[in-house]
Order: sequence, then structure tokens, then C-alpha cells
Amino acid sequence: MAPPGAVAATAEDEDEGEFVPCQFSDDEESDEELEHGQGCRCPLCVHGDGGTGASHQVLQQMEDIDRNMTGKVSDKAIWQLQANMYQKHVTEPLQRQGIKAPTVTPEDCRKHFSRHRVNSKRLVGEDIKFINSMQKQFRRTQILSRNTLTGETKMNAQAIRQWTQLSKHKLDLIKYYNNTLSKNDGKGTTSATPYAFT
Ligand SMILES: [Zn+2]
Ligand SMILES: [Zn+2]
Repeated sequence: MAPPGAVAATAEDEDEGEFVPCQFSDDEESDEELEHGQGCRCPLCVHGDGGTGASHQVLQQMEDIDRNMTGKVSDKAIWQLQANMYQKHVTEPLQRQGIKAPTVTPEDCRKHFSRHRVNSKRLVGEDIKFINSMQKQFRRTQILSRNTLTGETKMNAQAIRQWTQLSKHKLDLIKYYNNTLSKNDGKGTTSATPYAFT
């Protein structure tokens, strides 16, 4: 049997407790933005030109791909394609010249293009997903409550109003995503032949 002191402490822990920040399960990458900046070790930020200056064009084309394909194919496919481009057009040519070349993984591309570079379409897409997960959480925990004794259920009118606001905001963002952001695809793309490598 536990000593009386321990029992009291446990009961206290259960009663009180404090709220600390936590993350939604699908929004867990907030630290990566902080890594960027002075002393950033992202190979695409640091060695974007492969140390030669010659691959600025490749990096530009990787960005074009990012801008033009976001929302059309999976992000995973984009990052794989970008990593392949870097490997083929920066890393391998340098290695053939006997130069120690940086390698870039799809994971590097994910961090760089989703956290270090601003792609407004992807940002707005992430906001939409975040609002959506907030709504789910809200619906699960705030809107309906049930009396544990009588079983009677009760709706929270204020929570419903807040949920509706989230819903409206989400819809506005979706419209913006589908209209403004999707029409701008390819604008500002300087190269007429983005895939023509030599
Ligand atoms: Zn960086
Ligand atoms: Zn970067």
C-alpha cells in the first residue's frame, strides 16, 4: 500500500495540471523555420550553386517546378524530382570534374522549398489544412456535451459560431487558392524551356 503522502500528491496532479503548447498531429514542423537564417545548414541555401555559381539556373528551374506543380502532383513527387535534378545537373557534373560536390536529398528539398522559400500556394494550402484540423478538433471537443448523469446533450452556441467563422475563412482561402493562386501558375517563370538541360 502506498504511503498517504504519495496518494495525496497523485490526487493533486490529477486535479491541477497546466496547459502547455502542443501540436496538431499533422502540423509538426514549426522548428524548421527557426533553423533557417544565420548558420543555416540547408545544402540548398548554403551550396545552392554547388560552389561554382554554374547551377543557379538549375536551382531556378527547381523553383519553377515547385511553383508550377504545387497542388497538381504530390509534394513528395515534386521533392523527388527536384532532388533528381540537382543530382543529375549539379552533383554528378561536379563529381566528373573531380570536385567534391554536395548532395541533396528529397528531404532537403522538402525543407528548403516548404520552409526556407516562400511558395504562397503551398502556404495557403497548409493554412487550409490547419483550419480543417482545427475544425475537427473543435467539433470533437467543444460543440456537443453530454451530461454524465442524465445523458442529456447540449450544444454550445458560442462554439458553433466560432466553428462557422472557421468554416467561412476556410472557404475564402479555398477560393483564393483555386482562383488567384492557381491562375498565376507559371507567371514569372523566366525560362521558356524549363526542362531543356544540356
Ligand atoms: Zn536556409
Ligand atoms: Zn534551404
